[in-house]
Amino acid sequence: MPDIFIKDIYELDFEILKEKNIKGILIDLDNTLLPWNSSNIDEKLTQWLLNAKQMGFKFCIISNNRASRIKECAKKLGIPAVEGIAFKPAKGVFIKGMKILGTSREETAVIGDQLFTDILGAKRMGLFAILVRPLAEKELFFTKFMRRLESRVLERFYRKKEK
Ligand SMILES: [Mg+2]
Repeated sequence: MPDIFIKDIYELDFEILKEKNIKGILIDLDNTLLPWNSSNIDEKLTQWLLNAKQMGFKFCIISNNRASRIKECAKKLGIPAVEGIAFKPAKGVFIKGMKILGTSREETAVIGDQLFTDILGAKRMGLFAILVRPLAEKELFFTKFMRRLESRVLERFYRKKEK
């Protein structure tokens, strides 16, 4: 179970993290920082990161997505990312991330949208875990649903045409 459950990263109260002496944040990419496979970084996100950095927090991305996507987004966001083939909830990712941050377990928080990767991994390591609701859940579900519907309709259409 997460320590905090919030709607999105913008709801996060950094003062709570400061009180807990947290200095580094391992953050998930897809559906936490950015919508699934999107690399559009808007002003709101830029400001959020800037504000957190000014408050003294350091960030590192931990993602199970492709290395090329992680690299691209990390560069655009201006924060480092864990590289390699270790996957959450494996401990290796979190250990590597903390090395990049230069923080101890007590000083590290994890933010993510998935219970069985982000949160499970964080809790196995004894890190402070913050669960957010997935950014593009509804859109993704709707997109999948519409695609399936589209392909069924089109199949029928082509079958009719062939007759
Ligand atoms: Mg995610």
